[in-house]
Amino acid sequence: MEPQHVEGDIEKVLLTEDDIQNRVSEMAAEIERDYEGKDVLFVGVLKGAIMIMADLSRRLTRHVEIDWMDISSYGSGTRSSGVVRIIKDLDMDITGRNVLVVEDIVDTGLTLSWLVSNLRSRGPASVEICALLRKPEAAKTAVDVRYVGFDIPNSFVVGYGLDFAEKYRNLRVIATLAPHMYS
Ligand code: 5GP
Ligand code: MG
Ligand code: MG
Repeated sequence: MEPQHVEGDIEKVLLTEDDIQNRVSEMAAEIERDYEGKDVLFVGVLKGAIMIMADLSRRLTRHVEIDWMDISSYGSGTRSSGVVRIIKDLDMDITGRNVLVVEDIVDTGLTLSWLVSNLRSRGPASVEICALLRKPEAAKTAVDVRYVGFDIPNSFVVGYGLDFAEKYRNLRVIATLAPHMYS
C-alpha cells in the first residue's frame, strides 16, 4: 500500500520509500564490508522485520543464511515489559556462527537485550544487531545496536513491517497514525 490508500488513517509520513531504500542499501554495504571473509547468519525477529530482512538481504552481493525467531514480550498494548517468551525458536544451531539480528525497531530495548543474551548463551562466534529504527528517548536499557537505519521521535509508528493490530505491515512508508485510530 501507498500512503494514499490509507490516507485518513495517517498523521504523518516520517520516512518515504526512497528514504528507507537508500538507507537500507547503505546499511547493506556497511555490513558487507564488516563481514568480508566471514560467513554470516541473519536472524530476523517476526513479524516486524520481514520487510527489512527482504530488502537488506537482497542488497548483498554474497551469500547469507536466514533464520527467524518469533518472540512475544509480555505487556499490555504497545508497551514492552522485558519478560519474553519464545513462540518460535531458530531452526539452526548458531554455535560458532556470526549472527546478525535483524529487527524492525528498538523502542525500550528490553526485547532485544533479552534476545541478545539468549543468543549469546548458545555459543555463537559473534552477535550483532541491525535495526531499521531506534527511538533514543524510549530507551530503558542500553543495547549496543551496531547498524541503525534511523533515529526517530518517541511516537508509535507503522508501515514497512510494523503493525497496528496486525495491519499496516504492507504500507511502503513509515508513518504515524492519526489520533482517532487509537480510540
Ligand atoms: P522494545 O520496547 O522491547 O524495544 O520493543 C519491542 C517490540 O515492540 C519491537 O520489536 C516492535 O515489534 C514493537 N514496537 C516498539 N515500538 C513500536 C512502534 O512504534 N510501532 C510498532 N508498530 N511496533 C513497535
Ligand atoms: Mg520487532
Ligand atoms: Mg506489533
